[in-house]
Amino acid sequence: MLKKIADDLLKWYDHAARDLLWRQDKDPYKIWVSEIMLQQTRVEAVKPYYERWINRYPDAQTLADSSEEEVMRYWQGLGYYARARNLLRGVREVCSSYNGRVPDDKLAIQSIPGIGEYTAGAILSIAYDRAEPAVDGNVLRVFSRLYCISEEISQANVKKRIAELVRQAIPTERPGDFNQALMELGATVCTPRNPCCSDCPVIDFCVAFQKQRQADLPVKRQKTRAKAILLASVIIQQQDRYLLIRRPNQGLLAGMWEFPTVEIIEESAIESSLSEYLQRIAGVSFAMGEKMFDLTHLFSHRKWEISFYKGSVSINEKAQSLGETSKTAQYGWFYPAEWPQLCFAGPHQKAVHYLLSAKNNDS
Ligand code: SF4
Repeated sequence: MLKKIADDLLKWYDHAARDLLWRQDKDPYKIWVSEIMLQQTRVEAVKPYYERWINRYPDAQTLADSSEEEVMRYWQGLGYYARARNLLRGVREVCSSYNGRVPDDKLAIQSIPGIGEYTAGAILSIAYDRAEPAVDGNVLRVFSRLYCISEEISQANVKKRIAELVRQAIPTERPGDFNQALMELGATVCTPRNPCCSDCPVIDFCVAFQKQRQADLPVKRQKTRAKAILLASVIIQQQDRYLLIRRPNQGLLAGMWEFPTVEIIEESAIESSLSEYLQRIAGVSFAMGEKMFDLTHLFSHRKWEISFYKGSVSINEKAQSLGETSKTAQYGWFYPAEWPQLCFAGPHQKAVHYLLSAKNNDS
């Protein structure tokens, strides 16, 4: 049965595969980049980012030689920035330890930062024709339906069982196409809601379809609701420049720029919290102005609800002039023309768009 599933799937893939830029060659570096970008991001959203990335970083060495600041800018908008940081770390390791060639050995490739079991399987099968499974969410869904698996899908033993089934099904010829065909089936036919079973090349083998249980599978753990965090940010302009602060080098949105921001513990303490923060970070005395706009930004486990205010500062003796701003500093005064050179934390990028379009409408 497993061999027949593979045959039918590959036949279907030969005519149904979408024409995607990263499928045009078997360069392991490019496959690596595309797989990392595609994690938690839709294909349509990835397309322009991938194209821009490959134009700028056509090979591992070019990426390894680039600054993190610039690399984060090229990633900006894709979210989950740890992916970009790990990709850069991993590529640098490939260049320093493997002469710029992504290793084709399973243990070696999995020791590279940012390459887990799934990415290793994808690179090894697509670039090096190794019969290694690459089990992502699409594949878990397809197999949970094919075999009518009713256990909760994120459990390690269930994932392991499915990986084993995929391993048994994967052909030694065209293993990369087989993995991609499974992902394609999950993305375009065996979709999370309303799978198009009448278009499915493996319908004859699907136990969930036979039992009409496809809508119930896979069984997923109830998601916990994202915790809402209330924040206040302030837009401070001085002599045509704006005050920006760099987030800490560790943690969420590490090292990215934002307008000065504090968490709101009490509504009445917003101005005093911002004052204390700005005095400590940038040595300026602060006065709060009117509210400008609100933004909400959703992360996987939390939600930021940010109110943006106008603000003004007087610069004390310690920081008499705005001076020259270094892009590696902890804070700085930047002209709007310099903003495109900076990597803004997600919600603050939205604020930048808002401010720039308001500016354009005024002029
Ligand atoms: S028959 Fe339907 S549920 Fe079964 S694998 Fe195909 S699309 Fe998915």
